[in-house]
Amino acid sequence: MDKKSVFAESFALDNAAKDIVEIRRRIKYESELDKSFRDKIAKSAHGEKLYGCIQCGTCSAACPVSHYMDYTPRKIIQMVREGFKEEVLTSSTVWLCASCYACTVECPKGIKITDVMYALKRESILGNYYPKKSPASILANNFFNQVLNNGRNSEGPLLVKMYLKTNPFMLFKNMALGFKLWIRGRISLKTERIKDKKALKKLLQSVEDKSIYKAEVNSPALKEASAV
Ligand code: SF4
Ligand code: SF4
Repeated sequence: MDKKSVFAESFALDNAAKDIVEIRRRIKYESELDKSFRDKIAKSAHGEKLYGCIQCGTCSAACPVSHYMDYTPRKIIQMVREGFKEEVLTSSTVWLCASCYACTVECPKGIKITDVMYALKRESILGNYYPKKSPASILANNFFNQVLNNGRNSEGPLLVKMYLKTNPFMLFKNMALGFKLWIRGRISLKTERIKDKKALKKLLQSVEDKSIYKAEVNSPALKEASAV
């Protein structure tokens, strides 16, 4: 065997070893799974029916963004039931969910998958698992803050903030499109506000008082996420 083929063989062996290590790293033992996680999600998302999932995949087929998710809605439901807490909460799936409710409408077992996604988002923020630099989580946090403080969503300022925090170059790239939309009155740079902000605060307070997350609402993780 010449020097060149010995090198090629050892290179191939190195890669095979790396593959084996990668496969081993992905294995999770049953004892490492968090079984209390599924009960918490089921409780917080009116998800008692979670246990009735038959893994038919209708939710994944109905989902318009499942192709972009790292785990489809069907997989997420199964992973929640099995207790793959970390994998679920660090996945892109919950942040890509557009809350269109197509999965919830189509599910033959009546599982409220969209509500499960919301519960997972909340858990991801509270546990500090959420992807800090992802446009989806930044957009979601800014949207939440806008509605919380002003009672309305203002698309223009929301997009500007998201681009500034993620990729300012995209702001310049989309400026021409933004200008066209602004000329036609389809987008505004004004921050919209409701008149009676006190009533909104009162309403949100009463929701907060009844929330099962009451103790966690003021957690440092949630405050940090709101500041993003
Ligand atoms: S559609 Fe409902 S029953 Fe079917 S896999 Fe999705 S969650 Fe499970
Ligand atoms: S609510 Fe979310 S998970 Fe369900 S179909 Fe719509 S985007 Fe997909």
